[in-house]
Amino acid sequence: MWRYREWLPLADGEAPVTLGEGGTPLLSVPRVGGKHGFQKLRVKDEAVNPTGSFKARGLAVAVTRAARAGAKTLVVPTAGNAGVALSAYAAQAGVRARIYAPASTPAPILAQIRAFGGELVLVDGNIGDCGKAARAFAAETGAVDVSTLREPYRIEGKKTLALELAEQLDWALPDAIVYPTGGGTGLIGMWKAFAELAAAGWVSGSRPRMYTVQAAGCAPVVQAFEAGADACTSWPGPSTIAAGLRVPSPLGDRLMLRALRESGGGAVTVTDPDLAAAARDLQTLEGIDASPEGGAALAGAVALKTKGAIGADENVVLFNTGAGWLYRA
Ligand SMILES: *Cc1c(COP(=O)(O)O)cnc(C)c1O
Repeated sequence: MWRYREWLPLADGEAPVTLGEGGTPLLSVPRVGGKHGFQKLRVKDEAVNPTGSFKARGLAVAVTRAARAGAKTLVVPTAGNAGVALSAYAAQAGVRARIYAPASTPAPILAQIRAFGGELVLVDGNIGDCGKAARAFAAETGAVDVSTLREPYRIEGKKTLALELAEQLDWALPDAIVYPTGGGTGLIGMWKAFAELAAAGWVSGSRPRMYTVQAAGCAPVVQAFEAGADACTSWPGPSTIAAGLRVPSPLGDRLMLRALRESGGGAVTVTDPDLAAAARDLQTLEGIDASPEGGAALAGAVALKTKGAIGADENVVLFNTGAGWLYRA
């Protein structure tokens, strides 16, 4: 990822905190495409990042900047994968990590947080409740809060999703990007990167239409998009097996809604059975270890094609944001 260091907040000669994140494959998926009627479908497989998800990109940058500024303790609320990434990158930086996660987080994710030495606190509630506990800990101890959009650098790391995609497609951007959305750093980061690429003259023509996919049991962004609102209302009782999408009240709601509308994209929900079946298609037909969120992206693309929002012959890129094994009991 740091081959794009000129696009990232890193000074000349400064060494990043890194575990080799980024540089993930962009895979053609002809069998899945054939089954669901797509001619040019690709999957950017983020499961192969260190710590098993694309959270590695953002946390590598956030931990780099915090550690270089002298932070000794970092804290994060998490639906799961951000906690694994913070635990590992804090170990690499030699700083302390404190992680608040819902008690309902999949067991392998909790085991990975502990394995890298992060101090894990289980919360009887959702990520919003974890956020309150994390902010209280930060206020009490002076720890740096690296929550989504409460510091500026995770977004910068997520920009590299778009930079890699552009380079892998030889600087011809896809027609549509379908992204499983929780807190929205990936969506906001990619949209920022496309604007920066266009401003630098590295790409021309129209930018991809950005589509959000959320689970039917937690869809505040889809609800706000469909209502024509410019902010989300908190989703009561969020529930889905796709833990990364269980974000009832995203802080980046306005930025996400703006990116969806500016890009000419949209938003769609999928049910848990549909996202699980789609993840299984990616696993059994293509050998891609899709997380439930990656399954949601495929199920969402199929739903968008059925609605006529995406054409069968368009260049479509899905993100498999994390590894399926982290969710298996
Ligand atoms: C965090 C996460 C998401 C949601 O990403 P945002 O950038 O917060 O919208 C999706 N999938 C997985 C596997 C995640 O860990």
